[in-house]
Amino acid sequence: MTSWVEKKCSERGLRMTDQRRVIAKVLSDADDHPDAEELYKRAIAVDPKISLATVYRTVRLFSDANIIETHDFRDGRARYETADDDHHDHLIDVVSGEVIEFVDPEIEKLQERIAQKLGYELVDHRLELYGRKIK
Ligand SMILES: [Zn+2]
Repeated sequence: MTSWVEKKCSERGLRMTDQRRVIAKVLSDADDHPDAEELYKRAIAVDPKISLATVYRTVRLFSDANIIETHDFRDGRARYETADDDHHDHLIDVVSGEVIEFVDPEIEKLQERIAQKLGYELVDHRLELYGRKIK
């Protein structure tokens, strides 16, 4: 079956190789925010000939084509997720590194109001909260 990322690649006319297809599938199947090392681990489970360099090159290609989003959650590793999800923001647990996704309509509205007040129409935003779990 064609993965979501692969489908987007063909829509954008990206040349697909078998290795790119595997990485596209791994990204499509992920419901977390894997970094390149983690993607590499998942990819070589399918095709052991894939190199880490290929993973890096491929995520850059997919990212440049806006098929995946790159996140920086301040741990020095770029994280990736497909750009197919409905909009959501992230809360990062500073102790465990766990990433929690959330949507809050009030925050969405507030950000629009701020942009408007500054004379802008909001087209996109990113919000990351960093927190420690309350015991
Ligand atoms: Zn996310």
